[in-house]
Amino acid sequence: MPPAEAQEKHFLYADTDYHGTTGPISSVYSTEFGYSHQYWHPTLLNLGIKLNKSHFGGSNVGSWTSLTSVNPDARTRSYSVTGYYQPAASRANLIVLPDALVEQIIIEKVNGHWTGTGAMFSNRGVKYHARAFLEVIISAGSVQSPQLLEISGVGDPMVLQAAGVKVKVGNSNVGENLQDHMSKPEYISPANSVGFLILYKAFHVQPITLNSDNNDLRNLYRSSYAR
Ligand SMILES: Cc1cc2nc3c(=O)[nH]c(=O)nc-3n(C[C@H](O)[C@H](O)[C@H](O)COP(=O)(O)OP(=O)(O)OC[C@H]3O[C@@H](n4cnc5c(N)ncnc54)[C@H](O)[C@@H]3O)c2cc1C
Repeated sequence: MPPAEAQEKHFLYADTDYHGTTGPISSVYSTEFGYSHQYWHPTLLNLGIKLNKSHFGGSNVGSWTSLTSVNPDARTRSYSVTGYYQPAASRANLIVLPDALVEQIIIEKVNGHWTGTGAMFSNRGVKYHARAFLEVIISAGSVQSPQLLEISGVGDPMVLQAAGVKVKVGNSNVGENLQDHMSKPEYISPANSVGFLILYKAFHVQPITLNSDNNDLRNLYRSSYAR
C-alpha cells in the first residue's frame, strides 16, 4: 500500500480483505500522479458520485483510482507469463503449445453423466486427442469459451440443432447475454465538465482520465480510442 499521505491525497484505497496482499500477480497504485488527479474525487463527489473504497469487493459503482498490474520492486509488467508460466516453465509435466487450436471438447457419458474427458486439438497441421485425468478447464475467453462448448454439444438445443451439432447438455444460456461496457475518455476543463456530467448521468459511460499531464500520453490514448 502507498504511504498514508499519498493515500489521502490521491484517494488510493484498496480493501485488503478483497484485494489481498500477496499473490502471483501484483496490482499496485502508481507512484506518480498528475497535478489534476487530486481534484478528481472531490469533483465527482460534488457531482453525486461517491468514492468506492472497496472497488475489489464486488461492486464497481462509484469512483476510485485504478490499480495497475506492475511489479512494485522491479517496475516491470506483472501478468500470467511472469506470475504463472515462468515459475513453472521447467516442470517436466508442463507443456505449452502456443500454436494449438482446440477444435472440440470430448464430452462422454461417465456413470450416466455427460463429462468432459478430453479435447481434440490441432497443432501445426497434426490433429491430437488429449485425454484428461481429472478435468477439462476451458479458458478461451468470453467469446470463444461458449463457442467451444456449443460445438462440443453444450448449449441452446435450437442453436446446436440448426448447426448440425448433437445436443449433449441443453442450456439456453450458453453463448447469450454478452454485455460490453461503454468507455468514454474525457479530458476535463471548465468548458467541457458540464458535458461530462451529462454523459455520466444520462448514459453511465465510464470516464477515463490520465495520470499524467504529458501530451504524448494523451495523444497515445486519443489515438488508441479513436474510432
Ligand atoms: C479492448 C479491451 C480492453 C480491455 N481493458 C481492460 C482493462 O483495462 N482492465 C481489465 O481488467 N480488463 C480489460 N479487458 C478485459 C480483459 O482483457 C479480459 O477480461 C481478460 O483478458 C480475460 O481473460 P481470459 O483468460 O478469460 O481470456 P483471453 O485473455 O481472451 O484469453 C483466451 C485465450 O484463449 C485462446 N483461444 C480461444 N479459442 C481457442 C481455441 N479454440 N483453441 C486454443 N486457444 C483458444 C485465445 O487465443 C486467447 O489467447 C479488456 C478487454 C478488451 C477486449
